[in-house]
Amino acid sequence: MSEFKALLVTEEQGQYQRRVVTRHIDDLPAGEVLIRVHWSSLNYKDAMSASGNKAITRNYPHTPGIDAAGVVEASSVSELAPGDEVIVTGYDLGMDTAGGFGQYIRVPAAWVLKRPAGLSLRESMVLGTAGLTAALCIDKLERAGLSSGAGPVLVTGATGGVGSIAVAMLAHLGHEVVAVTGKADQADFLRGIGASEVMSREELQAGTNKVLLGERWEGAVDTVGGDILFNVVKSLRYDASVACCGLTAGGQFQASVFPFILRNVNLLGVDSVEQPLVAKASMWDRLSLQWKMDLQQLAEEVTLEQLPERIDTILAGGMVGRAVVNLG
Ligand code: NDP
Repeated sequence: MSEFKALLVTEEQGQYQRRVVTRHIDDLPAGEVLIRVHWSSLNYKDAMSASGNKAITRNYPHTPGIDAAGVVEASSVSELAPGDEVIVTGYDLGMDTAGGFGQYIRVPAAWVLKRPAGLSLRESMVLGTAGLTAALCIDKLERAGLSSGAGPVLVTGATGGVGSIAVAMLAHLGHEVVAVTGKADQADFLRGIGASEVMSREELQAGTNKVLLGERWEGAVDTVGGDILFNVVKSLRYDASVACCGLTAGGQFQASVFPFILRNVNLLGVDSVEQPLVAKASMWDRLSLQWKMDLQQLAEEVTLEQLPERIDTILAGGMVGRAVVNLG
């Protein structure tokens, strides 16, 4: 089998077109491990890559997909053998390396993890980069002192991929979760996955001009950035932390030193892409064992052919939960 299906993004006179095409194994970059991809997932970054964001992808034509789970077909390293079930998330996959929106990828062995024992390939992609990122945020908050039962934990962008998994995971770990959303009609979904309270985005945006806001949150996972992030910083309780991982509301914010020097709060950065493989492996083990959750409610299955429409939805901020991509 040397031909396969892939979503290909092409650049034509400054416009980016997305279609499912037939590709050839020889079109893939050189690499140590050839993987037959069975499942992938849709992340905001894939949508940026699929719409010509040159900070993500410099060269087109290109196949996005920062997540992939499948079976090794050929390997030039001894640690990985044909038939091994594996997952790949982040590094350059789907950025300038052809990604998981194709039925085959070829990548360096240093990007490849054996499938965690407690998760199926499909479950690993329901989580995908979004799940890994939510877990890294919660882990960092815990290491900064967050413990369950201490008080409400805020999640912004709560219906999105990272946000919905963070809500579900925090609730699963015994935290009281307040979910912030721009989608008033998704309150039932958010309560269904574990939120104790649902707050509107407008409510959280109030008070941007103030130096400090009332102390409310024992911790927070922020997936949106912009001035919403700094409003979260201003409303953290004394000594609390917010984990910052996303930018759907913007990459910049107005800030002051006051919350830091008056309330001892922490702004924690989280990156899931370039974590050393050993750190990713340890987090995936936790996701598959102690933090394992029922993921049914979070995932909708889509085909490659349905991806272009889903990419428009995620770019418009309309994502609810996770889209797991079935590559057949
Ligand atoms: P999604 O699109 O699935 O979720 C983002 C959510 O943000 C939306 O569903 C919406 O939720 C909210 N939102 C969208 N637009 C706005 C806006 N203008 N203002 C405020 N809120 C908005 O994306 P992902 O979950 O895949 O990614 C979330 C962010 O995290 C992205 O910026 C992504 O690049 C980043 N990311 C970072 C990673 C890292 O390693 N640091 C890894 C993975 C993702 P609602 O309507 O409920 O408010």
